[in-house]
Amino acid sequence: MNIAKLLERTAKTYPDHPALAHGTDIVATYRQFAAETVSLAHALRHELGLEKGDRVALIMKNHPEYWISLFATWHAGLVAVPVNAKLHISEFQYILENSDSRLVFATAELADQITPLKQELPALETILSVHEESYQSFKTGPALDLQDADPDDLAWLFYTSGTTGKPKGAMISHRNILIATLSHLADLAALEPGDAAIHTAPQTHGSGFTGIPTIAKAGIQVTPLSGGFDPAETLELISHFPNSCFFFAPTMIHRLISSPAFEGADTSNLKVIVYGGGPMYEADIRRAIDALGPKFAQLYGQGEAPMTITGLSTSLIKDENHPRRSEILASVGTVRTDVEVRIFDEDDKPLPVGEIGEVAVRGDVVMLGYWKNPEATKETLRGGWLHTGDMGCFDEEGFLTLKDRSKDMIISGGTNIYPREIEEALLTHPSVEEISVVGRSHPDWGEEVVAFVVSKQGDPAEPEELDRHCLSQIARFKRPKEYFFVLELPKNNYGKVLKTELRERLEA
Ligand code: AMP
Repeated sequence: MNIAKLLERTAKTYPDHPALAHGTDIVATYRQFAAETVSLAHALRHELGLEKGDRVALIMKNHPEYWISLFATWHAGLVAVPVNAKLHISEFQYILENSDSRLVFATAELADQITPLKQELPALETILSVHEESYQSFKTGPALDLQDADPDDLAWLFYTSGTTGKPKGAMISHRNILIATLSHLADLAALEPGDAAIHTAPQTHGSGFTGIPTIAKAGIQVTPLSGGFDPAETLELISHFPNSCFFFAPTMIHRLISSPAFEGADTSNLKVIVYGGGPMYEADIRRAIDALGPKFAQLYGQGEAPMTITGLSTSLIKDENHPRRSEILASVGTVRTDVEVRIFDEDDKPLPVGEIGEVAVRGDVVMLGYWKNPEATKETLRGGWLHTGDMGCFDEEGFLTLKDRSKDMIISGGTNIYPREIEEALLTHPSVEEISVVGRSHPDWGEEVVAFVVSKQGDPAEPEELDRHCLSQIARFKRPKEYFFVLELPKNNYGKVLKTELRERLEA
């Protein structure tokens, strides 16, 4: 099934329901959204000459037109390549070249930025600003019938965020997206017509994925006028849209509730914040529940198994009386309905409960492989299992706790130390706002533990005090040997802390 079928169906049943909003203005009903989509799809195939399977890049700040161009791409049997608008121009070039994209949909200012690249990209024929007249007229032309798609046809090239090395294009099929959609509705959020998915995080990544189940269930896609995350604007949108739903990186929740605009804001419209994409520390989720109520669900996924490896449901997050509440909040939840998850040792032998190894996943949500990269595909999908590169362990009740990515693990004197445990401990100190723990090379021990700390404003703690705090919670050998106090941590465009950059700083 072509994933664009979801829009076709919803538009039939709920034609007059609001579908797309820009700020608080409704800019399209489902009838309009579907009509513009099928006309644009017609233009892609018949006026712009694209053929089944051709790649179409979307380089846009969050904007309602993203949804029309994305669904038109799928409707026309083409492959979408959504690109984070905040990437560097050289990264745009790399992705456009690697994907051989023939057309780019862009918001006006990004279209101007990309135009000079055209002469170096032989495959790229058309850059279409969604604000220009020809794009607008394509949306009112003749309609194209929904193109058939095999479940294993490529639908989405999802470039990994690449915290190290060049991004790789995870090949996501129509089946993968359908399964991620069903699993979201089954495990994370039961959506209803009129629910509002507010996209303050990039639509090209997790937030955009949560838009697809919203379309399946006749909800509204809301794009903030700023095109991004501004806490005050986000709070205004919550007060306007009943049943507001979000996908947030954990750092965004922290920014929302610590913003001055949060004081006295009415958040009663909030339905759910699905968080994931990076570690949520126990101290932070407790703070968030106190501030917003237990309106959260967590997902753990990666571009290679979009949004869908494990999840922590709202009902578990609500359960204050659970005897193992602390462990549960610090975990990434239980295995999602549609996948199998195992913990492997270095030889890909399954490890028993309680032992730490690499998280591996099998199921219909797992990517087809990496685009034009058979070696990486073979390595990552060996034995039919997606090797995530994340380290973790299961407990007896089936909760998975992630330790760290294998490359972030610290080996000191032959012992494995997982930075996350130290980070969790230090975050419970009242002076610590944010923290990242990494290994620094050491002549005797191989590596030693050091911490980068962002202190709460005007409230720094002495290293000795943090040391005492650590010793009250974790083994002596794990405590940081040195603290670096910094104003902020380096993060990538998705809000993930760049540990590689911290390690480089130490080497320098
Ligand atoms: P990406 O492919 O860019 O979405 O990055 C996926 C990676 O983010 C995973 O392999 C994990 O390392 C990390 N990640 C995703 N979700 C979570 C989560 N809920 N908790 C901790 N780390 C996460």
